Amino acid sequence: MRLTPLTLVALIGVCVPTLAQDFLEDFDRFVEDVLPQTSAPRANGVAAPARQTPPSVARPVAPTAPTPDGERPSEAAGEPPLPRPRPEEAPAASVGPTAQDIEPEQGTATQPEPQPAEAKRVYQTACPALLSGIVVGEMLEPITEGQCGLRSPLLVTAVRINGREIGLSSPVTTNCQMAGALADWLGEVDAYANAALESGIATLTTGTSLMCRNRYGAEGGFVSEHGFGNAIDVVGFALRSGETIAVETGWMPAATPEGRLLRQAHGAACGRFTTVLGPEANGEHADHFHLDLGCHGQSCMAQICE
Ligand SMILES: [Zn+2]
Repeated sequence: MRLTPLTLVALIGVCVPTLAQDFLEDFDRFVEDVLPQTSAPRANGVAAPARQTPPSVARPVAPTAPTPDGERPSEAAGEPPLPRPRPEEAPAASVGPTAQDIEPEQGTATQPEPQPAEAKRVYQTACPALLSGIVVGEMLEPITEGQCGLRSPLLVTAVRINGREIGLSSPVTTNCQMAGALADWLGEVDAYANAALESGIATLTTGTSLMCRNRYGAEGGFVSEHGFGNAIDVVGFALRSGETIAVETGWMPAATPEGRLLRQAHGAACGRFTTVLGPEANGEHADHFHLDLGCHGQSCMAQICE
């Protein structure tokens, strides 16, 4: 008779029941590990040793698309509920209404009531020199006059420089760049007057600022920078001492304190404006300095200083 392993186990079971019980239990475990898992309870009614939860349940599972009735398949099958999808994983439809949802169906949209026209927005540019206080004045509405005009005009009444205010004999209408350059230039002239004439400038005597005309008042030719608020004419200075210095009467003789101050003012202007014309430029400027920030040359870097 040939002994197979099973026959041997049976014989041992018959002969030594207690040993067979222990052996069979180990054998049973071995069969459980080898054969596919079943949910059948153990026949002897003894609680099975705690087994590890299958990893397929414990691992986070990618969210499954909901079924039409909103029930997830895993829940329907009685399995443990899967972790709910995080917000970024949620279906796009749950985020909010799409443009398609908002758009009314064609043919059913009602025409909107005509709205009253909104107040016209005036687009202008703020002026740092006005904000910082070195220029005293106010913004004006945009000005348009034929070919002339400027979008962000300033009405300048004074400048604050060297620790005090220097007024203008008459307000000038100009742009921000000119106003800032005028304040810086006047501060330089004031410092010179304080040093050379022992009196600072009380008032700048101003001439033409914004005026729509051609250069030199000619019938044809180019529009003057005055037409764009980009030029200011200076007639002279009133010192704090009470003395007045006019370009027309003070330019010559050159060696006098007045003549020197006017030349210093002319030269200082050449460093801050692109066009400076004085009595030596032509007869049109015998009684004033013309200062502007017109563009000369392709790079706008060229300067005219006469
Ligand atoms: Zn001028």
